[in-house]
Amino acid sequence: MNAVVDLGALLTEAAREEQTIDLHSYDHYYVAVSGGKDSLALVLYLLDHGVPTEKIEIHHHSIDGENEGSFMDWPVTNSYVEAFARHFGLKFFKSYRMGGFEREMLRENSLTAPVAFDSEAGTVKVRGGKRGELSTRRKYPQVTSDLQKRYCSPALKIDVAKIMLCNEPRFRNSRTLVLTGERAEESASRATYRKFERHRADKRDSPKLRRHVDVLRAVHDWPEAMVWDIMRRYRIRPHPAYQLGWSRCSCRTCIFGDKDQWATVREYFPLAFNKVAGYEREFGVTIHRKLTVNQQADLGTPYDCDPEIVALANSTVYTPSIIWEDWQLPAGAFRNGCGPT
Ligand code: SF4
Repeated sequence: MNAVVDLGALLTEAAREEQTIDLHSYDHYYVAVSGGKDSLALVLYLLDHGVPTEKIEIHHHSIDGENEGSFMDWPVTNSYVEAFARHFGLKFFKSYRMGGFEREMLRENSLTAPVAFDSEAGTVKVRGGKRGELSTRRKYPQVTSDLQKRYCSPALKIDVAKIMLCNEPRFRNSRTLVLTGERAEESASRATYRKFERHRADKRDSPKLRRHVDVLRAVHDWPEAMVWDIMRRYRIRPHPAYQLGWSRCSCRTCIFGDKDQWATVREYFPLAFNKVAGYEREFGVTIHRKLTVNQQADLGTPYDCDPEIVALANSTVYTPSIIWEDWQLPAGAFRNGCGPT
């Protein structure tokens, strides 16, 4: 971590906060699962602590909306997360900003799109997208920890979760613990996050709603080794991205990608790469301040990828078992991270 923060003090504070949580006092455990190792570790943490599986909900906020992996994300991610949930007999809910990343990025004098989510009743509900200001994006989110400028994280994940929590009746008159997988080790910005706090959807003081929602960043003070260790203990096969060499399972063409990542995408996933490069040309604004994705890829070295894993990552159907009897650390473990800060 290249942060100028007193990590020791932050982690001591985190440990203090964790001691104040009554982990078993909630009706619902809403786990935001991207498919990355940190989010899976949240679920394993709950299982380790004996939280009943019928109370645990797996929520996947699909970056590309209805069409998984059609632009920025890994096509296989939704199916992988669903297979993980199914393996443990957990409820699985998908939610997304309609039209996903691409529609949000192409907004021109228009409102942000509504959010769609799987309801408990088995239908897909659509909410939001009717109020706010007309505005124009037509450029990639900026590579910064400022979420106003890095609009993909709030528009496609944070606000999606809030809209769902505010619109599903089961979260009223009940206690919900939202678990998210940010870790202090990842960046200076993440190191400053609280381990435990009220969620933005909390309305515990409203006599009408009594919607009690806390957020627990359960792995905030875990080093990467602890995350891999719990994955190994449960024999969980990591997302194919790690097997290909990615250190973080963010979007396949995450704006934070480094030169080797861009070189790997260009080599093995040329359609995805060319789409990103095409929009850079169309907007006349690059993701990186100075270099196009092609120039970044020219400076990098592609990872040595197994063609079978490339095909799996590029598929919308995850077929292998979630359990990996012959568990081993994937190629991407302990590599220098490049993903959201
Ligand atoms: S993984 Fe990267 S590109 Fe995808 S939503 Fe997060 S910051 Fe944006």
